[in-house]
Amino acid sequence: MSAQQAKRNKIYLSPPHMSGNEQQYINEAFETNWIAPIGPHVDAFETELASYAGSRGAAAVSSGTAAIHLALKLLGVGEGDRVICQSFTFVATANPIRYLGAEPVFVDSEPETWNMSPEALGRALEEAASSGSLPKAVLVVHLYGGMAKMEEIIGLCEKYGVPLVEDAAESLGSTYRGRQSGTFGKFGVFSFNGNKIITTSGGGMLISDDTEALGKAKFLATQGRDAARHYQHSQMGYNYRMSNLLAGVGRAQLEVLEERVAARRNVFRRYSEALGGMDGIEFMPELPGTRSNRWLTAMTINRGETEQLRDCLLAELENANIEARPLWKPLHLQPLFEGTTFFAHFIDGTAVCEELFGRGLCLPSGSSLTEEEQDRVIDIVQAIFASPFAQESISLR
Ligand SMILES: *Cc1c(COP(=O)(O)O)cnc(C)c1O
Repeated sequence: MSAQQAKRNKIYLSPPHMSGNEQQYINEAFETNWIAPIGPHVDAFETELASYAGSRGAAAVSSGTAAIHLALKLLGVGEGDRVICQSFTFVATANPIRYLGAEPVFVDSEPETWNMSPEALGRALEEAASSGSLPKAVLVVHLYGGMAKMEEIIGLCEKYGVPLVEDAAESLGSTYRGRQSGTFGKFGVFSFNGNKIITTSGGGMLISDDTEALGKAKFLATQGRDAARHYQHSQMGYNYRMSNLLAGVGRAQLEVLEERVAARRNVFRRYSEALGGMDGIEFMPELPGTRSNRWLTAMTINRGETEQLRDCLLAELENANIEARPLWKPLHLQPLFEGTTFFAHFIDGTAVCEELFGRGLCLPSGSSLTEEEQDRVIDIVQAIFASPFAQESISLR
């Protein structure tokens, strides 16, 4: 096989999947020469997304990271403050805490959802309360589309009077007892980065029931421009609004979101049917009463020494031109966040997210993944598990 053919056959982790209607919305923007941030597609995209999620309003911005930044800013996070944040996530969840001069306090995951542990959160809040330094916000994540234990987490936030922000960047379309992710906190955040379940190539959305706060978010995202004909500014703002062209792409993508969720869930179903029965393979659980969008199929390999068999599998997939990834490296282990406080799920300090990081990986999960492509992935996992190396490692468990 030539290098070029190999390239053509590459299977990506989560590639963009256009519906075909995007072009029409882009053409509309071209025909009206509305090539700017703000514009009719931006307004319509906000209304349509808020209506889908079931929130009172939305603000379209340039990225999910920008939306988190604005949410924390609106909650008054500033210099020297603390924000409790899930450790098991992508760095973009926590970076905005530092943008504002605040410090993250990291909280572990728990085994049933792989998301924020209510036990660890409870200890973090209790300790903060007793030292008289409650955090300005709690940032929960619905990782890979799986919903966190919202009832317990909301209960704790209410008990201590700390506002909740949901990083729902990976979970658009996921539900908890029938309600959409992103609608449980004071603010919810979605991302339309190129690898997410729907994309505008780059973009994000802040949602809330507080339309006044969303008005402030839009003000801050437009350089903090006061209502005056001359350019007047009394507050520092940002250039965070979404472009009208990209909002057009977002509108077409939103129309097919339910299909995309169904496709990703089907990808997950085929993996779990083919591989779920194998000794040592476990998939990310789905909490009863919730629907995960299964943005990425995530699994752990509970066989042999930590990392060994997983890394061997990742190398084999890479050789076959298949993109797979380890699970997110917990943020409290990142050099960037060295020295920050971390609350583990277990009292003895054992961290669930560290174990997941050592044993877990994500398989290609795009909504455009064909069954033939998926079978290529499945064949490799099965072959590795049938190898003498993997057989031996059963006894090492
Ligand atoms: C993608 C992602 C973000 C950031 O979104 P961008 O639009 O890329 O800025 C934040 N948090 C999580 C968990 C993500 O996966």
